[in-house]
Amino acid sequence: MRTIGVIGAGQMGAGIAQVSAQAGYQVLLRDVDMARAEAGKAGIAKQLARAVEKEKIEAQAAETALARITPISGAEPFASCDIVIEAATEREEIKRAIFAEVGKVLGHKAILASNTSSIPITRLAQASPDAARFIGVHFFNPVPVMGLIELIRGLATAPETVKAVENFAKALGKDVVHAFDAPGFIVNRILMPMLNEAIFALGEGVANVRDIDTAIRLGLNHPMGPLTLADFVGLDTCLEICRVLYDTTGDPKFRPAPLLVKYVEAGWYGRKTGKGFYDYSGDEPVPTR
Ligand code: NAD
Repeated sequence: MRTIGVIGAGQMGAGIAQVSAQAGYQVLLRDVDMARAEAGKAGIAKQLARAVEKEKIEAQAAETALARITPISGAEPFASCDIVIEAATEREEIKRAIFAEVGKVLGHKAILASNTSSIPITRLAQASPDAARFIGVHFFNPVPVMGLIELIRGLATAPETVKAVENFAKALGKDVVHAFDAPGFIVNRILMPMLNEAIFALGEGVANVRDIDTAIRLGLNHPMGPLTLADFVGLDTCLEICRVLYDTTGDPKFRPAPLLVKYVEAGWYGRKTGKGFYDYSGDEPVPTR
């Protein structure tokens, strides 16, 4: 594989583009328009500059990696890609429209992958030209820091597709775990009920934001509390994942906490909007409840 397409230049897409470029791949980066794709690349430039400042990478390596990333618009340029990874907003209709559009230009051996957190891979594959060359490739946030990729096989995903993407993941320096297509795969199936339950506890007045986070951080030795983590993931994304888990399983344990719905309705999505369970406008995050 030499050329990677990334669709969605938000926190995950930008991270995937960055690590791919740092590993030596050419990257085509697309969002809803050219301005957003350019903004994604500008964000990556900042991340790389920070890594240089912290002496984690050489300035020359950062410059070379950045030069490998090309913001694009439209689908035609993806014809040159060996793999196209979709990391757009967690909404099925958005992803299906992307696969249908990119599917028209995709090379006959190229792989289409989704970074979805929860939508069934077998179902998404139906919107792609070839379900055998469709796979879930679930990165973690922040992509340059987190060492894991979950690979999710849909019912029709070919073993060669799994192998090719596993090799790609390893070339990025990530560890790989394999999951069969089931709601939430491994990590979110286990994580989301915990984050959602923390929000239920907050909504019921069991404790405030800081105490819930401190309890889990120190009581369970987690590196960060669940409300901090939910803000980090994005509350809109958490809500979409809970909804998909609930809809696909029918299991009430996945019903979204009313307070999560309320925060999303308020536009308080967490870090990416500057406010969620914490307010990020000052030097230190301040709890909002
Ligand atoms: P985000 O909101 O930061 O970015 C989503 C990007 O997709 C935005 O820039 C948006 O403009 C773009 N987009 C929307 N529609 C598009 C379209 N039709 N074509 C191209 N771009 C489009 O969200 P994110 O956190 O980067 O999440 C992206 C995906 O990654 C979701 O499927 C999410 O579930 C998954 N994911 C998120 C996390 C996390 O911790 N945030 C972790 C793993 C996977």
